[in-house]
Amino acid sequence: MAKESGKNCYHLFDTAQDDAIKVQRESLEAIRCALDNHQFVLYYQPKVNMMRGTVVGVEALIRWQHPERGILNPIEFLPVIENHTMMIEIGEWVIDTALTQISQWQAMGVNLMVSTSVNIAAVHLQQPDFTQRLTTLLAAHPNVEPRYLELEVLETSALEDVHHISTIMNDCMNLGVNFALDDFGTGYSSLTYLRRLPASLIKIDQSFVRDMLSNADDLAIVEGVIALAKSFKRDVIAEGVETIEHGTALLQLGCELAQGYGIAKPMPASDIPAWISDWKPDASWLS
Ligand code: C2E
Ligand code: MG
Ligand code: MG
Ligand code: MG
Repeated sequence: MAKESGKNCYHLFDTAQDDAIKVQRESLEAIRCALDNHQFVLYYQPKVNMMRGTVVGVEALIRWQHPERGILNPIEFLPVIENHTMMIEIGEWVIDTALTQISQWQAMGVNLMVSTSVNIAAVHLQQPDFTQRLTTLLAAHPNVEPRYLELEVLETSALEDVHHISTIMNDCMNLGVNFALDDFGTGYSSLTYLRRLPASLIKIDQSFVRDMLSNADDLAIVEGVIALAKSFKRDVIAEGVETIEHGTALLQLGCELAQGYGIAKPMPASDIPAWISDWKPDASWLS
């Protein structure tokens, strides 16, 4: 009896596994097709200095303009290619598209941008020729100074191989680009690790910011990350700032930079110039 059900289980398992492989293969083909048909697009979310009332930059966030399903968020397609070479191809497209966008904004006189950041997957950053390929991409946009480009690397990815990643980061910084450590606080970075990662900006993960007004532990983590950034002379930005009150609390803790729905949602590139000229910080934020 046990053997029989065991057999059945195996049978069920095999079928389920076949289905999973089929779904995976179909998803990969769909993403390949989307790349070839130019269905990916970058949205941009502003980053501001709440105290000075200035826009300090934007973060590029990928979207899939799906012909039937509409605009899809990265969670719906990036996990499928997390460790696939297509992630590298998409990553290069993202960098190239962001550089093209920066140069268009420059030509329009949108010059308030300190930086445009792009998210870089671990598998992409760890390519042996990453620096070389970044050099080529930058060379293709000679009117864009590299300091306008910022690469966001997940804290958790950086911790996978601190030695290797810090070497790549240093090489890229020599080209003039800057780094941010994304979703900071989720990876249990030790002080030693942070010292070795040459990122100029630390992004406090939105999960801590979201509940900081109601959860003392999350507030303590936000305070801790701000203090850590200050002692290592790094800039610090809060992600997921959804309300004016979050902004006010962050300013009281000494964090001036913010990004979140309470300031602006990610938007098409064409909306950015008007948004920048219209934006006003909350009156209570200005000191
Ligand atoms: P991330 O880099 O941490 O980006 C922040 C995410 O939080 C974005 O989601 C953004 O839309 C969302 N967000 C911003 N403010 C708020 C807020 O106030 N409340 C809430 N609930 N959410 C907020 P999105 O665009 O869906 O991207 C999700 C993640 O996908 C990104 O997290 C990033 O890790 C990854 N990703 C996005 N674009 C790219 C890309 O071009 N390449 C790679 N490799 N990863 C990307
Ligand atoms: Mg990011
Ligand atoms: Mg983040
Ligand atoms: Mg995230």
